[in-house]
Amino acid sequence: MALMQCPECGKTVSCYADTCPHCGYPLKVTGRPLFSMPGIAFFFLAVIVIGACCLLLWLYLHDSISFGLFSFLWIILFAVFLMCSLIVNAK
Ligand SMILES: [Zn+2]
Repeated sequence: MALMQCPECGKTVSCYADTCPHCGYPLKVTGRPLFSMPGIAFFFLAVIVIGACCLLLWLYLHDSISFGLFSFLWIILFAVFLMCSLIVNAK
């Protein structure tokens, strides 16, 4: 769960709360997260996968396909790790 600071009393509150539980300040307008974390994760994953495909194609055209496959697997593993860490952080 993401946390933010109440603009009225300065105490830590959930960014999903409608009002501050300490002072009752309404947080609905400013309390929303700036962006959706899974959306960002999928955007990065798409960028990484497209980048990996371009790298693989480039290496294929330059006759180093075995090295290309090795790099491709590592990039995919990194992308999965990155996405998992983003999803865990979003909770
Ligand atoms: Zn407050």
